[in-house]
Amino acid sequence: MNLNIKKIIDETYDKVKVIKDGKVASYIPQLAKVDPNIFAISFVDTKGNMYSIGDSDSKVAIESISKLFTFSKAVHKFGENTLLEKIGVGGSSLPFNSIIAALESKTHTINPFVNQGAIATTSLFYDKNHKKFKNEILNNLNIFAGKQLKLGEKIYHSESETNNTNMALAYILKSFNRFYGQVPSSVDVYTHQCSVLVSSKDLALMGSVITNNGIHPKTKKHILKPEHCQFIKRALRPAGLYEFSNTWIVKTGCVAAKSGVGGGILILIPDIGTLAIVSPPLDEYGNSVKGIKAGEIITNKLLHFCNKNKKHKKAKKKTKKKTKKKNKKKKYKNQFKKTLKKYRARK
Ligand code: GLU
Repeated sequence: MNLNIKKIIDETYDKVKVIKDGKVASYIPQLAKVDPNIFAISFVDTKGNMYSIGDSDSKVAIESISKLFTFSKAVHKFGENTLLEKIGVGGSSLPFNSIIAALESKTHTINPFVNQGAIATTSLFYDKNHKKFKNEILNNLNIFAGKQLKLGEKIYHSESETNNTNMALAYILKSFNRFYGQVPSSVDVYTHQCSVLVSSKDLALMGSVITNNGIHPKTKKHILKPEHCQFIKRALRPAGLYEFSNTWIVKTGCVAAKSGVGGGILILIPDIGTLAIVSPPLDEYGNSVKGIKAGEIITNKLLHFCNKNKKHKKAKKKTKKKTKKKNKKKKYKNQFKKTLKKYRARK
């Protein structure tokens, strides 16, 4: 059975291209200026082969998807238990930057994929030397990308000038002893990590490190431990797509995904590959409209193929075993007949 990923992606691209719903994010003024027509899909299989369609070199701000990589670095450096204790993996039915959630949730940090937990995760790397702190976080994104990514200077300045909610969240966390560095410096580094520019190709490569148990498909560097990748995916599943996360899980069967308000979405499909979609218009939750639609179609088609293929392989193996047994029996029968013939002839 051959999987024609290219055909699945091309057909989905054409089907989804015509959707006109959604609005680009505007609470960060510079994000409102992004081209809403950018649409790209990239896929990296488990061997590192990439296939892309559309504007796969067009770049958008990574925004919330960066949380996945800073969290991964934190798991690698501090271990799972520290992250469970200092950040947590709780759910929230409130928006990703809700002040109420920061005040009222038990852990205040909630989980690493909403702003509260994400800024606190970045603060775990706090260093008095701001430049060193910033470079450590930005360089981590480069390691996942396997190349030097560019900072979206305009996005960074625009987000910095309007960062009041994130500053407030960080001070609330500090007041509950759930923040681990100096507030302005940590929020600034977090804003930098969100402003890095990525294409669908970059995202697919970055995510495939986690899909592929920690090994970068191009540089072949061991970036994460396999057991940490499993932990990261488990933590991501219930929280990666804002308040849509549970619906996504039900629709795709537990496939981990992360989106960002820049319009990117990253989908980690176990044993198959990594899918990245970029299209800036967002739905009411903050997920790319085309990203969710195309992501759901492609993910389910790939999973369906994989399951069918597994069954097919199992059936083939069973038939092979049966034939082997039959042939063996036949061989013995023939041997016996020959020996009997020889014996009779001697008589
Ligand atoms: N930098 C954005 C913020 O902090 C990221 C939000 C997102 O993509 O969910 O608001």
